Amino acid sequence: MVLEPAEIWAYLIGRGSVPATATGTVREVGDGNMNRVFVAVPDDPAIPSVAVKQAPPWIQKLGPSAPMSPERALIEARALRTFAEYAPRQTPTILDVDETRFAFTMEDLSDLTVLRTALNDGAELGRTSAEVGELIGRVTFATSVAGADPRVRAALIAESVNPLLAEVTLQYLLGDPFVEAEHNHHHPALEDGVKRLRADPAVRTELAAVRAAFGAKAQALVHGDLHSGSVMVGHRDGEPVVRVIDPEFAMVGPIGLDLGLYVANVVIAAVRSRNSAHLASIAECWDAFCAAWREGWPTRVDPLLDDGWLLRELRDVWHDTLGFAAVELVRRVAGYSHASDLETLPDPGPASALVLDLGHKLLVDREICGSRPDPRALAHLVSTSW
Ligand code: ADP
Ligand code: MG
Ligand code: MG
Ligand code: MG
Repeated sequence: MVLEPAEIWAYLIGRGSVPATATGTVREVGDGNMNRVFVAVPDDPAIPSVAVKQAPPWIQKLGPSAPMSPERALIEARALRTFAEYAPRQTPTILDVDETRFAFTMEDLSDLTVLRTALNDGAELGRTSAEVGELIGRVTFATSVAGADPRVRAALIAESVNPLLAEVTLQYLLGDPFVEAEHNHHHPALEDGVKRLRADPAVRTELAAVRAAFGAKAQALVHGDLHSGSVMVGHRDGEPVVRVIDPEFAMVGPIGLDLGLYVANVVIAAVRSRNSAHLASIAECWDAFCAAWREGWPTRVDPLLDDGWLLRELRDVWHDTLGFAAVELVRRVAGYSHASDLETLPDPGPASALVLDLGHKLLVDREICGSRPDPRALAHLVSTSW
């Protein structure tokens, strides 16, 4: 059931993903958190290499004592197929989906680098934020009430029901970091800030609003885990390449979740390196997102949705974006899963304290960045805090 490296070639041949006579090598490339990822490189250079991702019936890092439904691999593969339909440039090609082994085979991306790693090593974002914004815009428009008719949406909602992973998000992103909880940890320099955050009644109310948005808004198909570890970047034939991976948390949910997680992780990368070009790219992400919605708008399926509604909807998405960004900032310094961007600094204290403070401020007063969507005001808020 669980694939081992020695079985991968026989597996790929059995699935018809490579020619029956193919031979080659296999390396495990997953970072070992949730799932397993193998890259199979054929001896024959004419055969393209492939990657196989499998969800074991537990959380990979914790082993069989932490069971988790392997269905997540099929949710991920289905989401990738939908992403490929509307945002093919930013989506790895799926070659095979194996429903019995909860595995799928995809384009090998090992020539690319995980965005968080690239940023930690000093890379610039270049077109990355615009590409991510375009993917979110195109996929969410196409699966929203404006882009998809009610029957298509009903089917999409049903097939992307993802209660287990929703629980993970409710606990580790939208819950534990804001209370005393077993797996939380923080740098000693954050002690006072964390206490203030957890005692602030305004934080509780705004957190409740973000949790409610997560639980109740079925706006569009979202990735659900779109931080800088879910983006791979590099160059092919001299051109920049951006691929969004790992949508195992995909569901029909609030659009601001994806934008907020991405934006928060750009903010964290910017704080790490005091790089204002990273911050400027937040506007590129938002603008590309809006451009994709405006591009789809004339083709909307419901003629009773008017331009006034579109403006209102985009404002609402921005409001949610700031809320999800704020909780992500807090989670990465006071929750369970911290950001290597900060942890690998010689002293993570000052930068982490700054991120916590930003998260707290933004959560309790999202209009601190103005009452209209204004990503440049957010960039300004961050850059004047360091
Ligand atoms: P998980 O759900 O366990 O987080 P990911 O999809 O994020 O799994 O993949 C884990 C790691 O495996 C990535 O950070 C990346 O380094 C590598 N990886 C994922 N997909 C591919 C691929 N198609 N080609 C090459 N490497 C990949
Ligand atoms: Mg991972
Ligand atoms: Mg994952
Ligand atoms: Mg991942």
